[in-house]
Amino acid sequence: MALRIVVVGGGASGLAAAIAAARSPAQVTLLERGHGLGRKVLASGGGRCNLGHGRVGPERYHGAQPAFVREALARFKSERFFSELGLLTATGPDGRIFPRCGKSHAVLDVLKAEIERLGVAVRLGVEAAAIGREAGGFRLKTLRIPFRKDETPEPGEELRCDRVILACGGASYPQLGGGEGGYALAKSLGHTVTTLSPALVPLLVKDGWVKRLHGLRLEAGLRLWAGPQELCRSRGELLCTDYGLSGPAALDVSRDAVRARAAGPVTASIDLFPEFTPQGLRALVAGRWAGRADWPLKDFFLGMFPAQLSGAVIDSLGWEAGRPLDSLGHDAPERLAGRLQDWRCEVCGSRGWSEAMVTAGGVSADEVDPRGLASRKAAGLHLAGELLDVDGDSGGFNLHFAWASGLAAGWAAAAR
Ligand SMILES: Cc1cc2nc3c(=O)[nH]c(=O)nc-3n(C[C@H](O)[C@H](O)[C@H](O)COP(=O)(O)OP(=O)(O)OC[C@H]3O[C@@H](n4cnc5c(N)ncnc54)[C@H](O)[C@@H]3O)c2cc1C
Repeated sequence: MALRIVVVGGGASGLAAAIAAARSPAQVTLLERGHGLGRKVLASGGGRCNLGHGRVGPERYHGAQPAFVREALARFKSERFFSELGLLTATGPDGRIFPRCGKSHAVLDVLKAEIERLGVAVRLGVEAAAIGREAGGFRLKTLRIPFRKDETPEPGEELRCDRVILACGGASYPQLGGGEGGYALAKSLGHTVTTLSPALVPLLVKDGWVKRLHGLRLEAGLRLWAGPQELCRSRGELLCTDYGLSGPAALDVSRDAVRARAAGPVTASIDLFPEFTPQGLRALVAGRWAGRADWPLKDFFLGMFPAQLSGAVIDSLGWEAGRPLDSLGHDAPERLAGRLQDWRCEVCGSRGWSEAMVTAGGVSADEVDPRGLASRKAAGLHLAGELLDVDGDSGGFNLHFAWASGLAAGWAAAAR
């Protein structure tokens, strides 16, 4: 008789796990507490779904040890998986992979079609509320989650199965199914959960000059400091907003910012010329300064920056836009070059779970065998996706891990 497998969670990792297990073949039931599958897949990449990256390595992941990530990802090739499902993909020059049609719906459509072809029993609006172990398998208590939020969940059917795959996702984006319920289930089966914190999340800053640049997108370098200690750095698009900093460069350092802020103040340093060495930028500024002694300062920045940015730079140095360059003192070019590569602001928080794309922390990877994502605490249990203590950089790495770990968990769970 085919093994009975219950997959808890109908996001990226749960869909991949259900497909792999059903192909093996096993008798698969997929529980999703929401009323649609793959809600984060649909929202991902701004509706375009950055489903993976052409250059994936453990250095793009945090939480678990690199050896765990390397092993968990070893057998997965996203292009092959999706092309077998019929999805045309396109890889950008930066390595990010998207569906060729530019629509996340296309990704979900091919996954759902495969789930249907394989005869996976999908139960929407059904939450696994408790999982108990019994001889040779598991018993799951379920709740029926009403569509309307003002109605109360009711007890659902009790399910028995041989294997369980927990693919409940993390705490981020509660509006798309995020929550801590999956961690509670893992704990009830003997697992440890490391400290959870929002990651890939926009940062709040105190300083008014950042807010003044609201809407400005910059190609910048970003470094974070806790006192004199540099925590991390990133480079890429930085978006200034009326609350602080967003865009890939800010999101990629946000994990460290949130965690370091719990211990003390965190400063961000923006480099507006990340492609220049300090000497190179000093030479550039000195070269533009020379021979323009009578120019008003504001003209110095023409052709260099938008006026919104040059005004903020001028104010930050306590200068006046109309003053001629030679009135600013002999050290002015040096001060300006320094400011352009090290413009500081204080990080005072983050936008929190409701805007965090992923969760840092999760079920301890030390308690999971990376080859088949099998629990070392409960025989027959497998865990996949964001629920685990693995979070990736922005650029498709989180979905890549979700597909890879889901497939590996599905194959392993269905193996006798
Ligand atoms: C707005 C946004 C944009 C993103 N963009 C990208 C991107 O472009 N590229 C990228 O790589 N990553 C992106 N991510 C991150 C990526 O979407 C997630 O890392 C990934 O979806 C995690 O997959 P998962 O299956 O582990 O969890 P989820 O996708 O969260 O799925 C878990 C599912 O389990 C369900 N569930 C939980 N508990 C239970 C239970 N007890 N019973 C039944 N069901 C349950 C939840 O309702 C949920 O649907 C983005 C995230 C967000 C929020």
